[in-house]
Amino acid sequence: MKPLLVLCVLLAPLRAHEGRITPDVAEDARVSYEGSQLLKVTARTEGQKEALHKLQDMEGVDTWLRLAINSSTVDVLVKPETADKVKEFLGSSGLTFDVVIDNLQAAIDTENPTMSPEEMEELEGRKGHRMTWQSYHPLADIHGYLDYLAQTYPQFVTLQTIGTSVEGRPLKVLKISSNRPGSPAIWIDGGIHAREWISPASVTYIINELTENRDAHGEAVKNVDWYILPVLNPDGYEYSHRVDRLWRKNRHVNGKCAGTDLNRNFGYKWGGVGSSREPCQETFAGSHPFSEPESAAVSSFIQNQAGSLKVYLSFHSYGQYILHPWGYIRAVPRDHADLSRVGRNIATAMYQAGGASYTVGGAAAMLYPAAGASDDWAKGAARIKYTYTIELRDRGSFGFILPVQYILPTAREALAAVKTLASEIANVR
Ligand SMILES: [Zn+2]
Repeated sequence: MKPLLVLCVLLAPLRAHEGRITPDVAEDARVSYEGSQLLKVTARTEGQKEALHKLQDMEGVDTWLRLAINSSTVDVLVKPETADKVKEFLGSSGLTFDVVIDNLQAAIDTENPTMSPEEMEELEGRKGHRMTWQSYHPLADIHGYLDYLAQTYPQFVTLQTIGTSVEGRPLKVLKISSNRPGSPAIWIDGGIHAREWISPASVTYIINELTENRDAHGEAVKNVDWYILPVLNPDGYEYSHRVDRLWRKNRHVNGKCAGTDLNRNFGYKWGGVGSSREPCQETFAGSHPFSEPESAAVSSFIQNQAGSLKVYLSFHSYGQYILHPWGYIRAVPRDHADLSRVGRNIATAMYQAGGASYTVGGAAAMLYPAAGASDDWAKGAARIKYTYTIELRDRGSFGFILPVQYILPTAREALAAVKTLASEIANVR
């Protein structure tokens, strides 16, 4: 080991994150995906679609993209130890597949080239923070950037900690104020699912544009108040950077397994279809609605802004969908014509900004039912009219392991989405 590397390893725990200091994880404790393959499996008949349903819930299979109503494919991650079982199942069901990623660990290793400590120091000295949109940053860089903005633009930026995570990390909401009393407001969150790194990257890009490049974004944007939580699940996000790149849930230990799916823990139609009562499952809904401090803090904060919030928007990945309620049932809300019209405007704006096509529809009607998600709660309980979940890029060429050169085009699309929503609510005021 080179002396410089030793120093970095020793220093790492100290600058790890605010709040509780946890020991850093040794390189060899990282979860390895050596030899794991991402398969895109295709059904050609109704019988084969039934087989796809079986496959996506099979033990040992991590389903990245489930079977949607109008789709005939699923994306599944297959580990070497289950490869034989899965391929035998595929063969006997007549399902065909493409190997999209041949060795996931190799993809993970090249996904996110990070800067050297010297480069980071230089950047921080020059800009006052370490944030870029050329790599996926750890939580400390994102929070450091929010602190920098609050200090640099006190006339319109304020930073508030609305609660703390299971492991004691702060939930930091940045408010960008219009400074006009009575302005309509937009809520944006990112990173509710830890492994969806493009989400916090895009949300911080939006923050950057609305603060450091404020004059470029027109009157509608300036007449709106913004509440933005870029990392809703900070424990999971850090864990996905340090230990398991594919971690999804928060880090609440429930018996023998860790993690509650925060996007199944919200208290509207909680515990229904598409969520699990089993703590070891990826969609574990928690022991009761808002059992988790992260989802509970978000719901309290949003309810305290009652009346001013006209938009609830949550960024996820992947699949390129603009989803509106409902998610718990294959029905649409009474005002779905409005949600659908604005959703299509968002899709047009996103396409013009970055060139990717996004599909608009009701979450359960277009994909599959999932109860206890944040968007259903925002619509059904907090009564926020324009409620959307946007699944960012891509459509499964890289999935969660989206290389860094896609950050900027994806983030520009995300910015176009929020500007469309800002124009909409500024006009209907
Ligand atoms: Zn997600």
